[in-house]
Amino acid sequence: MSELQQRVLVTGGAGFLGSHLCDRLVEAGHDVLCVDNFYTGSKANVDGLLKHPRFELMRHDVTFPLYVEVDRIFNLACPASPVHYQHDPVQTTKTSVHGAINMLGLAKRVGARILQASTSEVYGDPEIHPQVEGYWGRVNPIGIRSCYDEGKRCAETLFFDYWRQHNLEVKVMRIFNTYGPRMHPNDGRVVSNFIVQALKGEPITIYGDGTQTRSFCYVDDLIEGMLRLMDSPADFTGPVNIGNPGEFTMLELAETVVRLVGGTSTIVYRPLPSDDPKQRQPDISLAKATFGWEPKVNLEDGLKETIAYFRHRLQG
Ligand code: NAD
Ligand code: UDP
Ligand code: UDP
Repeated sequence: MSELQQRVLVTGGAGFLGSHLCDRLVEAGHDVLCVDNFYTGSKANVDGLLKHPRFELMRHDVTFPLYVEVDRIFNLACPASPVHYQHDPVQTTKTSVHGAINMLGLAKRVGARILQASTSEVYGDPEIHPQVEGYWGRVNPIGIRSCYDEGKRCAETLFFDYWRQHNLEVKVMRIFNTYGPRMHPNDGRVVSNFIVQALKGEPITIYGDGTQTRSFCYVDDLIEGMLRLMDSPADFTGPVNIGNPGEFTMLELAETVVRLVGGTSTIVYRPLPSDDPKQRQPDISLAKATFGWEPKVNLEDGLKETIAYFRHRLQG
């Protein structure tokens, strides 16, 4: 962030990524308003900030209007794990679409710069590999993942229309699979599932045959990319990919987690959910060229940090 103190709104600020972002913003000297409906996030994630004079936590659902005075908005509110976003799919689309409209309306009224946490899911099950920002994607509009994928795609559309129509300063960030401390043990995404299973000595659940790939970014790298994007020149809108290009099959991930935990977990195979993308890897040339960002933490080092976090949490 720039040297000047800003009033910053973080929606979804009590979630996994949002809470790390709030930490960094408060550390940098900003005034942070964290807005969350606690659907998948929790007060515990921002426990360390609650007493800080420059931090405020507000329970609010972004599908309803919000009238506050801020300089910058990070719009992260939306459940990110398939298990949670599919639990109430109508609310998921409402959160992405109505949430974006409300936050863009707010940004327009107060003249705030606004960043959207979009996703690699806008590429769907991609035929282009690795994925570049110019690729339009292959998304099923009526499947079980569509509430999330299409909601996020529509939010991107809204960001670009507010930019064209109302000259808003917008930043669209396409986040690829990110992991790290503060993921919920029941989050349901693959990294937390495998680590929790390995720590408990339970079988590791692989969906499908485990040959599908993902590219995993450690949370600290991701947040650094998000802050740099927000601070990028006013005429840079993105969309821009932020993720770690290191690509692994789910079988490789399972083996690595079991080895690092030092457990004895076996592998069990479960049905592959429908529309599960077969491969995913970010092309990050645009982020590198525009604001000099690239990830620094490799998968093993990031997993060690995350395992240590879950070990502590499961004991406590
Ligand atoms: P998360 O589920 O931990 O955080 C989402 C937060 O949003 C939670 O605190 C939740 O309570 C809150 N929320 C949900 N609906 C809301 C609503 N209607 N009003 C107010 N708050 C609401 O997930 P995360 O991993 O921290 O993801 C944060 C953002 O980043 C999401 O928008 C997600 O789509 C995006 N993203 C994350 C990843 C990833 O790998 N972590 C990848 C791509 C995109
Ligand atoms: N909005 C908000 N906070 C504000 C300003 C607007 O939540 O400070 C919401 C409001 O509910 C509105 C939406 O943002 O419906 C879109 O605002 P915009 O000004 O673009 O459109 P309009 O008010 O004409 O619907
Ligand atoms: N997955 C798995 N076992 C699990 C959870 C997920 O094999 O316990 C698979 C899932 O089918 C997908 C990949 O891991 O192919 C990543 O899933 P996640 O839900 O973490 O993220 P997304 O599919 O949204 O990228």
